[in-house]
Formats: sequence, structure tokens, C-alpha cells
Amino acid sequence: MNKRGPKNRPQQNPFKILLLVALVAAALTLVFQPGNTLKFEKPEEIPLSELLQKYEADELKTIEIKDSKISAESKKGEKFKSAKEPLATTIDLGLNDPLKSAQVKIIDTSGTKMWTNILLGAVPFILIIAFFIFLSRRASGGGGEGGPFGFGKSRAKVYDSKKHTTKFGDVAGAQEAKDETAEVVDFLKNPVKYRKMGAKIPKGILLVGPPGTGKTLLARAIAGEANVPFFSVSGSEFVEMFVGVGASRVRDLFKTAKRNAPCLIFIDEIDAIGKKRGNGSGGGHDEREQTLNQILTEMDGFEPGTNVIVLAATNRPDVLDNALLRPGRFDRRVHIDLPDLEAREKILEVHAKNKILNTKIDLRKIASKTVGFSGADLENVMNEAAIAAVKNRAKNISQKNIDDSVEKVSMGPERRSRKISEKEKQIIAHHEVGHAIAGHFSKNCEPVHKISVISRGSALGVTWFLPEEDTYLQSEQKMKDEMVSLHGGRIAERLIFGQTTTGASSDLSRISNIARAMVMTYGMGSKKLGAVVFAEKARQNGFMDFNEKEHSEATARVIDEEVQTLVEEAEKTCGEILKKHEPMLKKIATDLLKKETMTREEFLAYFE
Ligand code: ADP
Ligand code: MG
Ligand code: ZN
Repeated sequence: MNKRGPKNRPQQNPFKILLLVALVAAALTLVFQPGNTLKFEKPEEIPLSELLQKYEADELKTIEIKDSKISAESKKGEKFKSAKEPLATTIDLGLNDPLKSAQVKIIDTSGTKMWTNILLGAVPFILIIAFFIFLSRRASGGGGEGGPFGFGKSRAKVYDSKKHTTKFGDVAGAQEAKDETAEVVDFLKNPVKYRKMGAKIPKGILLVGPPGTGKTLLARAIAGEANVPFFSVSGSEFVEMFVGVGASRVRDLFKTAKRNAPCLIFIDEIDAIGKKRGNGSGGGHDEREQTLNQILTEMDGFEPGTNVIVLAATNRPDVLDNALLRPGRFDRRVHIDLPDLEAREKILEVHAKNKILNTKIDLRKIASKTVGFSGADLENVMNEAAIAAVKNRAKNISQKNIDDSVEKVSMGPERRSRKISEKEKQIIAHHEVGHAIAGHFSKNCEPVHKISVISRGSALGVTWFLPEEDTYLQSEQKMKDEMVSLHGGRIAERLIFGQTTTGASSDLSRISNIARAMVMTYGMGSKKLGAVVFAEKARQNGFMDFNEKEHSEATARVIDEEVQTLVEEAEKTCGEILKKHEPMLKKIATDLLKKETMTREEFLAYFE
């Protein structure tokens, strides 16, 4: 880092400068090429012997010798040129006859030659040095300050709050998160007020939430509001191929930050370095461990009254090392959840601001159809709708554009080009209607929103269930009913065609996951096992550690049996439902094949 502190001036790239120098050198050598005389009259080229004869005959007025080149002018004004061996002197050539009237002039080229040689000699060196600098910059990931030896420098970006205009207003919803962080902003602006009262402000704040909920956006907004320097860095930027680089970057980052206090440091995706230490999985975690230790040391090392606050964001708080979370470090956690109905509407409003919408569009309605969407998904919905409107050459974005784009975002784009045989289409249609009917007759299942036999993403067909409102709890019965509707596809195939296909594989794995989660983590569905959590460690570590079983082999067998029982029960219920409604299944599937997609209303009409 430079003494001037935060770097926000354009970077001069030394590689480019060297390249320029090399080019200039090459050009100079060409211009100063010996004998590269820029004359426009073309002298006649004659043999040396002829030239000497002319000299002997005293026909020449001047003779000019430059290295091995000789040019001459006769008394009549004719011009000649010739050449000699480089080392042959005027005496060797007999050009020193005092009786001849020709003026012999020797041009000294040793000066320019020396420069030419030096430049010529330097070009390869310059190129080699430039190449090495290029290589080392590549190795360090580029963009660092300090040229070839800047491995250990932090590469934090500095946000200039005057230029970065993201404000709290741009973050829709997430009211609690904004309130909590607003406090921090206020502290940085008026530290005295808090210190008088004896209040200590947290050193670290951890933003926690699912991907796309606006953590990075909120951090940018804090920067925009706080009006202090804001150093932003991503956790993965600390991880390099050399052990120790990350730690040194951390040191550098904190040093710079302290010099610029009051200020904010933002470490995005901190789970890249802050994973639990010492669980011995995967290589290269020495580096991570050192980097993490350095962060902890730096945060402890803040003297009281240092106005540096560290913000970090993650979507995996469960994998973070406990040491990071203890008081004095990231002791304050701010949760950002997936937006609820109200928040979704506000987010849609934010992203509708710069778009031309049809006046009839009801954002509230779209919000109610997008349960489970993150802020990023909603932004994507609005953007895809705008793109579709442009494609259709429409004047504004229509309701249909938005509806299509909601489906595209949640289920992937349609793939109409995929060629599917009639026979397979039949199977897909019955499979999807099977899901829909099994779900429809299970009381706790979410209502059917749409059925389609158009391929989307990797799915061949889709049955889309959509909750009517945001829910935060799942009941045991709901999980069971969900398994029933997931069985619907496979069982319909078996019922109608007498066999099942590979199309049901993802349904099956979802069923197993639900059953396993019920038995092992939620204490549901098994009288034998009761309310015991068997997968707590695995849940905390974020991965299955088979060496650390939290139950005996005997229990493992019971777990397997209970999971099996739950899955079979759901399968049986589903079989009964579909058997009972087989004629309807066939009828709806036939219609679906013709229509390709079926809305909720069209589906419900069959049962009135
Ligand atoms: P995260 O860091 O939590 O994964 P981001 O902050 O990168 O998510 O969000 C991605 C984009 O989604 C943002 O740039 C923003 O446009 C949009 N977005 C997410 N949440 C919100 C919100 N609450 N209000 C407005 N836009 C949002
Ligand atoms: Mg982010
Ligand atoms: Zn299915």
C-alpha cells in the first residue's frame, strides 16, 4: 500500500510501460541503422574499382566514407555510391593522393553506433524482465499493488461513498437488518455520543442469510450511508496457492484500515476462510487456518477506541469456526431472511423503478406468486420480463412477460427444441398428472399451480405446487403429504404402463431426504426412535462425517427401517389415491398432451 492510503487512482501497469520502452527502443535502432541515410536522389551504384579509377582520373569532386559505404560526386554533378571492406582505410584504397582535387570526407559513426549497440543489446533484457513481471503478476492473481513482489498485499477495493450511491433505500424489506446496521453507521459518524455513555460498539458484524437476499447489497448501502472509507474484499481472495499469502494480506488490510480509521472492512463470503478448523477434510487448509488465525489476531488487536468495524457476510454460518463467533469478534449477527410477501412487493417496486411497465400490472399479485424467491431472483424476474418485452417489440412490459419470466426463473428456460417421441410424451404426461392428482388429494399439500409437459432445464415435465402464503414451519403431516405427491409420478407410470422409468429418480431422492430428515433431525414419524436427534454433528459441520456416528449400529438399523416404513406408507397412500382416480388421470393426461400446459383453474375444473 501506498502512503497516500486508500488507492483509488488508476493503476499504472508496469508491464505496459516496459512494453512501450521496448517498442521505442526497437524503433530507434531501425532509424539509426548504419547507412540508413535518408536521401531522395538515387546515386548510381558502381564497383569500387570504377570509383577508384574515377579518382585516379581526377573526375571526382567529393568522396564521403561512412563505415563501409562510399558515396561520391563527380565534378559534373553525377552521384555514385560504392562499398569497401569495413576495415579498409583510405590509405589502403590509395585515396590519399595529394595531387587529386577530390575532397575525401570520413564520417564518424562510432557515437551513434555505440547507442545503437546499447539499445540493441538492451531489448532482449527488457523483454525478459517484462516477461517475468507478467508471469509474477499472473501468479499473484493480478491487480495487486506493489508490482511483482505484491503477493502479500491486500487487494481490498475501496468504495468511495461519494461515488457509490447505494443507500438503505435501495435495500427493500429487511427492516431489522437495516435497523441493526444503522446503529453502526451512526456510531461511525458520532463516536463521542456513544463513548460518553460508556457504550462499546461491536467490532464485528456478521450478515447471515441465504444467497441472493441482499447481504452484499446491504454492505454497500452501509458504505454509502456511513460516509467513511470502506474496504471490501471477498474471502476467496485470501486463498492463494502459497501458504502464508492470505495471512499477510489480512495483516496488510487491517494495517491500511487502521490508518484510515474510522472505517469499515467488509469480508464477503467469509466461509471461504472461516470454516471450522481442524476437521481434517480436503487439502490446502493450512493456508485457510493461517488466514483465519490472522483475522482473529487482528480483531483482538484493535485498541479500544479504534473506529474500525469489520462486516462479514456468509450464507453458511453453520460451518464457521466458533472462535470467529465469540464475543469480541463477530459478536453481532444480523439475519437476512428470504423476503416475505410485503418485502417481495417492495423489492419488485425497487426493480420496477427504471422499467416501463404496463399500467395494469399488479406487483402485489406477482409478489404473492413468488413465495420462496430471493431478492436476486426477483431482480432477475423483472429483468427477464424486460428482455422479453424488447424481443416482442412491445411498448411496455406486460403481465404475461412477467408471468413467463417467473416460471423461467423458478424452473429454468423452456426447451422446446428437445425431440421427444410420442411414447415418451405419454409417459411424461401421466407422470406429471400423477404428481398433481396425488398432491391434490393430500390435504396438507400445497395447491397445484401449473402442470406442463414442456421440457425445462433438465426436467422433462413440471408439476408446480405453489404455497398460498409464506410459511415458516413444516408440520409432520405436511412432510408426509409431500412424499405422497412426490410418489405420484412413478406410481402413475406403473399404474398406466406397467413399469417405471428413470424419470422418477430425482423424486425418489427427495422422498428419501424428507424421510431421513424427519427421522434423524426432527424426531418425527417414528415411535421407536422418538424425539432424538441423530444427525446433529453432521448438520452442524455441513457435511456427512461417517466416522463420527452419533448412534450405534443397532440404532442405524432401526433408522433405516423407520425411513423405509415412512417411504412405503407414502407410496401406499399414493397408490390408493391414483387407483381411485385412474379414469381422471387418463383423461387429464390426454388433455395435457394436447395443451402442453395446464393452469390451476383448468386442473381444478376436472374435479367440480
Ligand atoms: P447476497 O450477497 O445476499 O448473495 P446480493 O446482495 O448480491 O445477495 O444480491 C443480489 C442482487 O439482488 C442485488 O444486487 C439486488 O439487485 C437484488 N436484491 C437482493 N435483495 C434485495 C433487496 N432486499 N432489495 C432490493 N434488491 C435486492
Ligand atoms: Mg453476496
Ligand atoms: Zn416427477
